[in-house]
Amino acid sequence: MIRYALVCDGAHEFESWFAGAAAYEQQIKRGMVTCPVCNSAKVSKAIMAPNVARKDREAQVEPPIPATQQVALIDEKMQALRAMMREMRAKILESTTDVGDAFPEEARKIHDGEAEARPIRGEASWDEARALSEEGIEILPIPMLPDERN
Ligand SMILES: [Zn+2]
Repeated sequence: MIRYALVCDGAHEFESWFAGAAAYEQQIKRGMVTCPVCNSAKVSKAIMAPNVARKDREAQVEPPIPATQQVALIDEKMQALRAMMREMRAKILESTTDVGDAFPEEARKIHDGEAEARPIRGEASWDEARALSEEGIEILPIPMLPDERN
């Protein structure tokens, strides 16, 4: 069975079931399909109702519409968050001196007053970072952006 959306010459839209495309053609030719409103036999296929056509196609490949909207909302938040992280990262990079591997050592020197107090950045392992904060040295991880990992 196949369902067609039909329209008569009076622009009345209705739906009708047929055994198949050939049966539809035959019944239309014989004037057996008539408009339920005005009884006109001048009937042709209307553009398929979009919701009917979409249901069949999307059921297999795409998640239901509400789920798609949820994903879109999360994406927007993530985008805002990412923009914030990028801004923060840029500010940190702009206002600090890169000391590379020497970071833990330099941080301690600055903390102890052995080196000039200045904002620095560099690399520290998790252990070093923990040790520094246990010593009361305030450090901040620089936000890493997902698209800058490589
Ligand atoms: Zn009609």
